[in-house]
Amino acid sequence: MNFKAWLNTLSASSHTLPIVILYVTEGCNLRCCMCSYRKARPDELSIIEIERLACTLADYGLRHIVFSGGEPLLRRDFPAICKIFSQYGVQETLLTNGLLLDKRLHEIRTFLTEIIVSLDGATAGTHDTIRGRISFEQLLAGIRSAVKSSPGPARVSIRTVVQKQNYRELAQLIALAKSLGVRRISFLAADLLSDGFGRDGKGPPAHSDSISLTAEEVLEFRAIVDAIVSTYRTEFRTGFISESPDKLYHIVDYFGALIGRNPFPSNACNAPMVSAVITSTGDLLPCYFLPRFGDARETNLEQTLNNDTIIDTRRKVRDYVLERCQTCVCTLRKSSVAALLDRF
Ligand code: SF4
Ligand code: SF4
Repeated sequence: MNFKAWLNTLSASSHTLPIVILYVTEGCNLRCCMCSYRKARPDELSIIEIERLACTLADYGLRHIVFSGGEPLLRRDFPAICKIFSQYGVQETLLTNGLLLDKRLHEIRTFLTEIIVSLDGATAGTHDTIRGRISFEQLLAGIRSAVKSSPGPARVSIRTVVQKQNYRELAQLIALAKSLGVRRISFLAADLLSDGFGRDGKGPPAHSDSISLTAEEVLEFRAIVDAIVSTYRTEFRTGFISESPDKLYHIVDYFGALIGRNPFPSNACNAPMVSAVITSTGDLLPCYFLPRFGDARETNLEQTLNNDTIIDTRRKVRDYVLERCQTCVCTLRKSSVAALLDRF
């Protein structure tokens, strides 16, 4: 039983931090149209700082670390980072664009519980256009190698960021995921409103018209989701498609809301109660989208996780008063029961 995590879900205070999303670098070898991460920052956390941080986080109840970026596999010392966290027995998940997966899998596979690979099209044309570089075949080779290396600790999953250029390919993506033998596929709407994904106050991505859907396309997308929901009942039931049918309709509604056809779909996120994001330079964020509240390089983590800024943010998230939450594409909900049962 994890009573501290349970208490977290019932209050605005932090008693433990079970989930951390760590950007290990902002460098990336792709050029996705909806993201501005390109170059590694000069002041990124060093391996020594990560070692210290891992010890502090483990003391404070870390259960699950998610490595993100940028592209984590661009860091030469990424296997060493995985090894550090594995010494504390935490679950490790890698979010990757897959380009270096085939090459580096042998260095990391024993440490990881799950490898989530971004696949944004069922064809090379679609995927490579969205991702800004020819990468589709290389990525599939990486997924095949990772799946072949199972049964091992690492399970392989696919994540697709849905947008104008790929919403017609959802059914083909599900079929492709099945043929590749991955564990599951999940879908997320492209974020067009936040400062996340390296945009840092620069507003929506350039060419956002080529990402969002028109009114006619939203109608067509709804019909596509109708067909998927009736065709893939088993895949929803078994969790092969991670989202429930309702969540897929949320994505349709999000694109409808962007053009004022309907309100934004509501959500019940409690990410800042059970998790935090640590950027590559050590900034502590309540989630991917909300502003910094501290520095992970500081030694008194418990104090930082309970400073006035984050307590106020947690209250506002709980009361659902932040516009960012009301228009969010990527939410996390951990129930009090799941927290009590230590399911992270
Ligand atoms: S979305 Fe991921 S793969 Fe694409 S540019 Fe951003 S960090 Fe790189
Ligand atoms: S709804 Fe979105 S912005 Fe709000 S706390 Fe959750 S992840 Fe962050």
